[in-house]
Amino acid sequence: MADALSAPLFERVAIIGMGLIGSSIARAAKHYGAASIVVAGDRDEAVCQRVRDLGFADVVTHSAAEAVAEADLVILCVPVGVMGDVAAEIGASLKPGAIVSDVGSVKNAVVEALSPHLAEGVWLVPAHPVAGTEYSGPDAGFAVLFENRWCILTPCDRSSDDAVAAVTALWRAFGSNVETMTPTHHDLVLAITSHVPHLIAYNIVGTAAHLEAVTQSEVMKFSAGGFRDFTRIASSDPTMWRDVFLHNKEAVLEMLGRFNEDLAALAKMVRWGDGDGLFDLFTRTRAIRRGIIAQGQETQAPDFGRRGPTSDPAAKA
Ligand code: NAP
Repeated sequence: MADALSAPLFERVAIIGMGLIGSSIARAAKHYGAASIVVAGDRDEAVCQRVRDLGFADVVTHSAAEAVAEADLVILCVPVGVMGDVAAEIGASLKPGAIVSDVGSVKNAVVEALSPHLAEGVWLVPAHPVAGTEYSGPDAGFAVLFENRWCILTPCDRSSDDAVAAVTALWRAFGSNVETMTPTHHDLVLAITSHVPHLIAYNIVGTAAHLEAVTQSEVMKFSAGGFRDFTRIASSDPTMWRDVFLHNKEAVLEMLGRFNEDLAALAKMVRWGDGDGLFDLFTRTRAIRRGIIAQGQETQAPDFGRRGPTSDPAAKA
């Protein structure tokens, strides 16, 4: 577990959007001592009240513009499709020299949406912590969500070296590994590692729901045969994922095209009884999973560690 810092990295950090990721960042900023003052902004007064009750922020407000005033670092934790609207709301309240960052799962579209609203002298350092759960809202967050996970920074022409270094230091303080790449490369990599897998999960769960010859109760009863693991992914937040697909269209369609070609090849192996072909592929894919476990990005526990003590996010809060 990463140690708390001896001195804060930022005086005032404002986080807009108190969902899973925003509330986890607020908790982490407190937990690791990364900011002297943590300001939480959420448009919904009921969510603001919940954040006050949970007590992980120093200042809580439903006004995004008020939240970012005087902040050294502002992190936008809202769905990709509304990043531009939020930037328009806060643009005039940002102090000169402030750094704006985000956590959006798509990067090109976010850079395009944010840039026009940021004055000269305000820096933009887009980021994507590759960490999360299928839960939403301020109760779902926990301080150690980012430990031993990757955070991808995608500097753009509105970034400065100092601002990138400051955001890198923040994510390292949260226990994350930081990698830097272009927004376009990020969108391509995440299309295959995250976006297409979610689309496949949404699709297979939808297909099962439409099957008339198999009842709902059979789908539930026999779900441990593999289906259950897709349902976890397919229960992810509909707004977030709708926005991901609307804003990473090209890369998703490119990867989906390749997926469809490979699926057609697989169907051919099944049809023609090509046991060697199937065995070879399954051996290679098993090695990929072993590599992911070896890199600490998945637990080795049977049943995906579901019955382990740390499988409940609430337990880690
Ligand atoms: P979440 O738990 O559903 O929270 C979404 C937050 O955005 C809520 O605070 C919500 O406000 C706010 N919001 C929604 N629409 C808004 C609007 N029109 N104006 C202002 N605020 C609005 O979602 P999340 O999982 O934290 O996702 C937030 C961001 O993190 C997304 O960009 C997502 O792509 C990215 N991300 C998610 C994951 C993951 O696994 N979940 C991982 C990495 C990155 P209310 O409280 O009022 O509803």
